[in-house]
Amino acid sequence: MLIAIAHGILTQMEQKPYILLVNPKAGYGKSVLPFMNKTTGQDQAHQYIQHITDLFAYYGKPIKSHIISRKSTTEAFLNTLNTDNCEALLVAGGDGTIHSVLPVVLKKSLKLGIIPVGSVNILAKDLGLPMSIKEACECIIKGHLKHIDIGSVDKQYFASMLGIGFDASVIQATKDRLKKRLGLLAYGIAALKVLMSRKSQEIEYKINQRKHSEKASFLLIQNSKYYSGKLCISERSSLDDGTVELITISSSKKSYYLLFMLALILKAVLKVDIFSYLSAIQVRQVKKVTIIKQAIPGFHLDAEYKKESPKSIKLQTKCLSIFC
Ligand SMILES: [Mg+2]
Repeated sequence: MLIAIAHGILTQMEQKPYILLVNPKAGYGKSVLPFMNKTTGQDQAHQYIQHITDLFAYYGKPIKSHIISRKSTTEAFLNTLNTDNCEALLVAGGDGTIHSVLPVVLKKSLKLGIIPVGSVNILAKDLGLPMSIKEACECIIKGHLKHIDIGSVDKQYFASMLGIGFDASVIQATKDRLKKRLGLLAYGIAALKVLMSRKSQEIEYKINQRKHSEKASFLLIQNSKYYSGKLCISERSSLDDGTVELITISSSKKSYYLLFMLALILKAVLKVDIFSYLSAIQVRQVKKVTIIKQAIPGFHLDAEYKKESPKSIKLQTKCLSIFC
């Protein structure tokens, strides 16, 4: 009997720990369990940690947890953390939180586990991950990995998408508070606001190794299938096919942007695809995009706004291992 207990303790001691990062600012402030009151911030983060630690402990898996104070300091924090002997890095957060860990996860070749508690969770939806914390943890414990492509631009990374022009302005205009309250609708409101106030943007770019350049007022590079929530522009888009979808709008007319938004909604709600009838919208599969000139600086990576202009956008194939 004593030998069996000692063996059990030793087995647990031999298990490599999972490192869990929790973003207390992610999501709508939803409760961990249905009967709990909604909480926000640190209380919510502690609820998540307790719940996830208990779930992993049930399967004899140890966890070391950390609360991320700010996404902007996550990379520096992770660089100081000893991850040499960990099983994987787990992130309880949304797409922004995942984006903030990508540089270190790729540099240290860590396996990534996603517990989707963000407000949109595009990457998790694309991977088909369960949206419940319990099921997402069980999925990680099962240990099945998918190897996905990651976009890179000037030593920064994106898992789902990169947007320039209108798309970046919408991300910049979407208030965090409204995003937590309204979710996807907050982006819709920001999109209409930007449309009403925005000056026309001109982006000059080059595809792959071509010599000639092209111009657009909207440029989106998608690695994931979903654009916003479960709104989708191109079904061909895949996380592990070695290419990205380049979606451009050459017209700068405001009415064309309204048509673009209408096309997105029609496709999501009625499954009617009118993108092919909108001649100024082009969808192409590419491997590399170079931005030559951008009239108004600013872009976004996985809905995280950046002030500068991107230069060379490439794809690193199957370089990130995610539990799914
Ligand atoms: Mg792809």
